[in-house]
Amino acid sequence: MRKYLLTPGPVEVPPPVLAAQGAQMESHRCAAFSSLFMGISEKLGKLLESSQPVVILPSSGTGALECAAVNFLGTGDKFISLSCGAFGKRFREIALRTGAQGVFGDYEEGSAPTPEDAAALLRAHPDAKALLVTHNETSTGVTVPVREIIAALPEENRPLILVDGVSSVGAMECFPEEWGIDVLCTASQKGLMTPPGLGFVWLSKRALAALEKRDCPSYYFDLKLHLKYMKKDSYENPYTPPVSLYYALDAALGVILKDGAREWFAKRRRWADGFASGLEAMGFELLVKDPAIRSAGVTAFFAPDGKSEAVRKILSRMGLTTAGGQGALKGKIIRSAHYSDWGEAELAEILGAFGEALKEAAE
Ligand SMILES: *Cc1c(COP(=O)(O)O)cnc(C)c1O
Repeated sequence: MRKYLLTPGPVEVPPPVLAAQGAQMESHRCAAFSSLFMGISEKLGKLLESSQPVVILPSSGTGALECAAVNFLGTGDKFISLSCGAFGKRFREIALRTGAQGVFGDYEEGSAPTPEDAAALLRAHPDAKALLVTHNETSTGVTVPVREIIAALPEENRPLILVDGVSSVGAMECFPEEWGIDVLCTASQKGLMTPPGLGFVWLSKRALAALEKRDCPSYYFDLKLHLKYMKKDSYENPYTPPVSLYYALDAALGVILKDGAREWFAKRRRWADGFASGLEAMGFELLVKDPAIRSAGVTAFFAPDGKSEAVRKILSRMGLTTAGGQGALKGKIIRSAHYSDWGEAELAEILGAFGEALKEAAE
């Protein structure tokens, strides 16, 4: 059996992506790079079903979140943060460091914030400038109903909606313009099946207008500066971008968009559902009880009799690298991601290995 990388980032990248990143360097100030960048933007537009700009940063997902925070929040501002796990808390922590004040909505691991709660928090804090929410909580495998949450908010005085889509974009439906998101952050190494190192910030019209009224204290992460270099007929970066990662990203977007993004999302959903049923049939217990919020990208579950860590060790010996729990779930759960371009054969092989590991752990 071949090795499998089952961690929720970085994920296994498809062979055409590996091949693309090995190409010779180009100057980031030449026409060829500009047209590569523009082609990538067009593909991102197809994925997100929007022609609003996406700024690409040389950073991981955390950098994209930091970029969103420093461009839209500062001392004297108030934000609402909804969190159901480790990444919700990280986004909140990043926002607090801008000097802004936070109001928190917290939800148990395995559950998701509800539209009703979000609307109530906003009614109680009508002066909030931003609402922060994590689309896919990677620490628990919960997909938060962001679209429904936004739809439940009162129309007037809406804060900017800042969404952490680091582990959702590329793997599941996330249509920021249609849903009413203002700032959507993501990264290259999960749903976008590209090596780590690129961060992305999509901006709504409302977000662009808000930027005009602010001076960003960071130079590296100044969104206005990046946008100035993305002219109508030529896209550049304000400083040297990781050129090879752009080659890789372009190839990965090609894989995702081959039969249309929605077809790709449906394929990932079917894979996740098949994986979840297979695990349950073997006696694993899923952390997320409500199937409506189970992630299409990452599944979290318990091995019977508290044997999660033992099962992970055996899997690792077999060549399957999984992730464990974070925070209160440390040592208790197994997290297995499925962002890569896998089909039925891989599903059978991976489930087979989990079954064997479970049997061995019980002996
Ligand atoms: C992985 C992840 C992050 C952090 O991204 P890095 O690329 O590791 O900085 C943030 N939020 C979510 C939801 C994630 O899954």
